[in-house]
Amino acid sequence: MNIDVLIIGQGISGTFLSYYLEKEGKSFLVIDNNYKNSPSKIAAGIINPVTGRRLVTVWMVDEVLPFAWNAYQQIGHELNITAIAQKTIIDFFPNPFMRESFLQKIESGDQYVHTYPEQNHFNHLFNYELGCGEIRPVYTAYLETLLPAWRSHLTNKNILIEENFDIAELKVEEDKIHYNDITATKIIFCDGTSSFDNPFFKPLPFAPNKGEALVTHIPGLPGEHIYKKGLMIVPMADKDLFWIGASYIWDFDNADPTDAFRHSTEQALKQWLKIPFTIEEHRSGLRPATLERRPFVGFHPVHSTAGILNGMGTKGCSLAPFFAKQLTDNLVYQLPIAKDADVKRFSKILSR
Ligand SMILES: Cc1cc2nc3c(=O)[nH]c(=O)nc-3n(C[C@H](O)[C@H](O)[C@H](O)COP(=O)(O)OP(=O)(O)OC[C@H]3O[C@@H](n4cnc5c(N)ncnc54)[C@H](O)[C@@H]3O)c2cc1C
Repeated sequence: MNIDVLIIGQGISGTFLSYYLEKEGKSFLVIDNNYKNSPSKIAAGIINPVTGRRLVTVWMVDEVLPFAWNAYQQIGHELNITAIAQKTIIDFFPNPFMRESFLQKIESGDQYVHTYPEQNHFNHLFNYELGCGEIRPVYTAYLETLLPAWRSHLTNKNILIEENFDIAELKVEEDKIHYNDITATKIIFCDGTSSFDNPFFKPLPFAPNKGEALVTHIPGLPGEHIYKKGLMIVPMADKDLFWIGASYIWDFDNADPTDAFRHSTEQALKQWLKIPFTIEEHRSGLRPATLERRPFVGFHPVHSTAGILNGMGTKGCSLAPFFAKQLTDNLVYQLPIAKDADVKRFSKILSR
């Protein structure tokens, strides 16, 4: 079989890459092993404009945020699903230092960080002694709805192969690649942490990061906000279901859920929430993060038939649509990829 592009992986990166290639009329196949703990399957889907304890404005926010909102709206509309929702974050200050940081950010005129006028509004739901502020706009992408819907779309068109991709069977030539009976002009790896062992791209400075989260049932908690106090409580697509997390662990032995996370999160929730909750699920997985916190996008400097869309780290929900489009435009129209994301910045180590 002859195609333009063979895509490995249907997480959020492979989903948007195949979406934009389809729009350009390119022929492609997606191979995905449907691994149940891939980060795209366990993420909260938060797309926020500021991040971390110091509320740092996220990289390329002015381009990436509106792009993500439009991209999820568009794909959702085409698939007849709700793929994204607009929320606000209610940030309950966990200590005086964070309260101070937040207030300073407001004073500096930050467009995303705001006072919350009714400080007692959440008194019947939460314990909070130091007040709260609001971050907006914020979005949640419903990957749990989007990924299966896009998978059905691909399956119906007979262009999704559910199996494990075996890199030993791949032959990369100057102008094409071969994999079993498939011949393609390009192969693009959107396979998350599997790329760490990929002979073409493994020299890249990947830095996997483990994250755990709980899915909880909290009847009576309004779903229009994300609530934050160290932990985040994030409304999911189903009413009364909330995602709670997450941990960020650089040093770990395996990707399994831990009793320590479950216990500490349950205790923190009991102290914070005033209404009952039940834990439905405990999730754990590895983020395809990178040492310099920028994604890896583009084609190999020597083996130009092999490409990558990866390294999304903690921000895959916002970065994947944006860079899937850039990679598509690069492939089809030879348009440039943002310098800080283009894998060509590692030409030296990839050419060794
Ligand atoms: C607990 C947690 C919470 C998170 N919350 C957020 C959040 O709120 N907002 C946000 O923006 N990001 C969040 N992230 C990060 C986000 O999940 C990732 O950045 C993103 O999902 C990466 O997507 P991807 O498609 O690049 O990779 P992946 O999700 O890893 O997808 C790779 C795909 O390739 C398939 N695959 C891999 N190897 C093979 C193979 N050999 N053969 C066939 N198929 C293969 C896998 O099954 C998978 O479907 C979170 C991550 C974690 C762990």
